[in-house]
Amino acid sequence: MCGIVAYVGPKDAAPILLEGLARLEYRGYDSAGLVISNKGLKMRKVKGRVADLAAVVPARFKGTLGIGHTRWATHGAPSDANAHPHLSTDERVAVVHNGVIENADELRAKLEADGAVFVSETDTEVLAHLIARTVEESDSLEEAVRTALKRVVGTYGIAVIDARRPGEVVVARNGSPIVLGIGEKEMFAASDVAALVRYTRQVVHLEDGELAVLRADGFTTFGGDARETAKEPLTVDWEAGHYDTGGYEHYLLKEISEQPETVARTLRGRLDDRFHIAHLGGLNMDARESRSFRRVKIIGCGSAYYSGQIGAQLIEELARIPADAEPASEFRYRSPVVEPDTLYVAISQSGETYDTLAAVQELKRKGGRVLGIVNTVGSAIARECDGGVYLHAGPEVSVASTKAFTSTAVAFALLALHLGRVRDLSPADGRRICEGLRRLPRQIEEVLALEPQIKELADKYADAASMMFVGRVRGYPVAREGAQKLKEISYVHAEAYPASELKHGPLALIGPETPTVAIVPDDELLDKNLTTLGEIRARGGRVLMVGHRTADPKLADDCVVVPRNEIELDPILLTIPLQLLAYHAAVALGRDVDKPRNLAKSVTVE
Ligand code: GLU
Repeated sequence: MCGIVAYVGPKDAAPILLEGLARLEYRGYDSAGLVISNKGLKMRKVKGRVADLAAVVPARFKGTLGIGHTRWATHGAPSDANAHPHLSTDERVAVVHNGVIENADELRAKLEADGAVFVSETDTEVLAHLIARTVEESDSLEEAVRTALKRVVGTYGIAVIDARRPGEVVVARNGSPIVLGIGEKEMFAASDVAALVRYTRQVVHLEDGELAVLRADGFTTFGGDARETAKEPLTVDWEAGHYDTGGYEHYLLKEISEQPETVARTLRGRLDDRFHIAHLGGLNMDARESRSFRRVKIIGCGSAYYSGQIGAQLIEELARIPADAEPASEFRYRSPVVEPDTLYVAISQSGETYDTLAAVQELKRKGGRVLGIVNTVGSAIARECDGGVYLHAGPEVSVASTKAFTSTAVAFALLALHLGRVRDLSPADGRRICEGLRRLPRQIEEVLALEPQIKELADKYADAASMMFVGRVRGYPVAREGAQKLKEISYVHAEAYPASELKHGPLALIGPETPTVAIVPDDELLDKNLTTLGEIRARGGRVLMVGHRTADPKLADDCVVVPRNEIELDPILLTIPLQLLAYHAAVALGRDVDKPRNLAKSVTVE
């Protein structure tokens, strides 16, 4: 959450910072600010979007070093005063911060008693005052930052500048991402490579506890013990073009439309038609080890958790290993029992989701074997895990996840195929799944071709005050993801229930004003699902059915018919009409589709 950008080099910093912030805006967008060093610090910050900030930065805002921020508030409402950067009282030190300082109240009381004057409600401001107190007696800015951070409890990615050291930026990481970008006689830092790809492909990820000093001619990194650390730069293959809307009205629609290609990329080189198995080089496990697990536990947050539920179902069905998914944010706090014969799988598009990262760290502390299913190469979760599967879906910019969701489900199908084929899944079933996976990209195109019909349905249902999403077994995670998408971007209240549970409570909510979206694949549960539709209709409820056939008009008002794949893989295709439904409902309601209120992508705070 929140975006940090830093620059030092020969060019004017302000345009580079503004451009980088715009690329990071999906991470937080309630306020934005920047500060430039040029014979003192010059700062502009506003409540609102990066465009609002750009409007108040003067054309002549000269200076070749600076830091910038887009905020996702945790302490204090979005306002000009709470926007970052934050300055020390003497305006010598400026700080931008992503994360939460847990002992901020205590530090603030001490600093105020010592004469510091606070001008914001943020936890971040204590950092500026703390560093201002250490900077005088320190030989370097990094020493001042290091000393100040010793007093801090919490999570941070920070960038700091000192008006009296106009040639350097210090950045540090503990729990929130910081990545350095290496340019020609210039250095960058940011929360995400998205801000860097226009300028450089050479990046270095900081580890927790690390600190770095950036100067125009290079960088130095230090570990927690103040010793220099050696870092190997990584070349990123994401291009600046990935961050454009590419002619689409919204990133969300672009990302939905990219799914034939992104699913193909997740599959590329991973299916073996000779033995009908999956090659997942990154698992770092031989066949014997792959056979040794007696359970699979999947963790993730939000849509990643729902894709994990699809994954658990795939693993149980194809590999016959008990598997379940749980929100990582819950898992990490309940002192989980970690077993040596359980395979843990952590999912995160960004690879930086704080709750998921903390759960992975807890698992590692207890000796658990953890795989990561991650989109961002080199991200914290990818580095922390014992092995994993990269999605290769390209950057996902819109806050609501779509292409990362389907690619994660596909990655789970590959993992399930792998675990199944080292156990009892027959070559014939392996072949059936391989062929089904290969059919997916083309079938996704067929689903996307239904967009005009789905748009009409979205217009029809968008005025509902509340919607119910139901599905059974394989269809239930699809229903949950459908409800989540609708809530996130259209703000229409939506609930997802197993269809089987409806009559145990929520049927009381059904009536003409609460339509139901029913996920009804043509599987062994078809008749049961149709009975549920009858029960809904008998209570006057409207039904939009998403499945493989058109229902009797007595059972459904509307039907979206998607192509069939294999029953185990159908959930992937059934998800896509729900993405389009949520998208068009949000557009019909005039919502800010790519930046829904109160949310941000890449949730790097607790
Ligand atoms: N905790 C800080 C604040 O509320 C930083 C939030 C962020 O990560 O954007 O200002």
